[in-house]
Amino acid sequence: MPDDDFLLLNPGPVPLSEDVRTAMDGQMVSHRSAAFEAIYERAQDGLDEIFTRSTLSGESTGDGTSLVLNGTATMGMEMAVSNLVGPDDEVVALVNGKFGRRFARIADRYATVTRVEVEWGQSFDVEAVEAAITDETALVTVVHNETSTGLLNPVSAVGELTAEYDTLFAVDGVTSVGGDVFRIDDWHVDVAITDGQKALAAPPGISAVFVTERAAEAAHERKEASDGAGIPFYSDMPWHLRKAEQHQTPFTSAVPLFRALAVAVDEIHEEGMSDRIERHRRQAEAFRDGFAALGLEAFPDADGPTELSNTLTAIALPEAIRGDDATAFFDAVAERDVSISGGQAHLGGDIFRVSNMGHLTPEQVARGVRTVGEALGD
Ligand code: PLP
Repeated sequence: MPDDDFLLLNPGPVPLSEDVRTAMDGQMVSHRSAAFEAIYERAQDGLDEIFTRSTLSGESTGDGTSLVLNGTATMGMEMAVSNLVGPDDEVVALVNGKFGRRFARIADRYATVTRVEVEWGQSFDVEAVEAAITDETALVTVVHNETSTGLLNPVSAVGELTAEYDTLFAVDGVTSVGGDVFRIDDWHVDVAITDGQKALAAPPGISAVFVTERAAEAAHERKEASDGAGIPFYSDMPWHLRKAEQHQTPFTSAVPLFRALAVAVDEIHEEGMSDRIERHRRQAEAFRDGFAALGLEAFPDADGPTELSNTLTAIALPEAIRGDDATAFFDAVAERDVSISGGQAHLGGDIFRVSNMGHLTPEQVARGVRTVGEALGD
């Protein structure tokens, strides 16, 4: 059991406020009761605002419906893909990290996929993306904030292409929605996915999918045309949309997680989206500056249309402690009661990652940097 001194800096799950934690500790209610519907509605209204007003000026950027799902973001990604495309469809998937690859792998199960792939941590060449999209492309997928590498991908530029070629556009906003700018209409987003356990600062196990009118129509048409054949059962988007009108889920809802999410989104509104975005930007910059002062370098290559993430920081480990030698470094961090993440897949032993999602104080950011410095000196 972590003590009060424990500092959780992994890019999910993130630290929760006390109110979010205690929200989970109540007697159950029926997921078909008015009491539950009120919780769902509160979470849903809050999410609608977060998905559509994640800007510095607070203006509305689009319209749609937020669905709350019993499951993590991968379920949301799969819901988007499996309801919008089928075996006769072509998908273009942008891959420059683990989660872009996950989107592509999900799409492989349902449609024909063309990958636009660059090395993890590198920027996409927008011309290469354009070369991959054709009049036959039904859906383009991209991860906005690539958690595995700390890069913010050029969703706006890709969205322009999806509009030009009239394709659907599904965006993974898992580590950006609730912590950074996100624009639905300007970026031509049709479906956006986020996760409770990231910038929303809710617990793991619950996620949200924002569905625009255009995506909802596309999903309805596919379902009607096939009479349901090939449409997933648990993640049937039209069914979820219909139940969401009643503030319910099609199947039993994870009541404690919904309660926690409702409190977490309230807390986001209390802070105010623009203040929250500014805070995340300040703290990410503080991490970057602090690590730079230790002589460390950012892992991703933020040249071109890609920028460094404002919700997490990925740092290249010094050559001398890469690979198996990195274990001693991670152990030294953990001994100091701080939890950070290493690289994922082939980046294991090459990088470390810290998040500033959730409820971090400036002192905790400073402690994160100090701890890394001490662990490197051990
Ligand atoms: N997309 C991104 C960008 C993520 O960071 C994650 C989790 O870290 C996911 C998708 C998948 O989330 P989960 O493994 O919780 O389903």
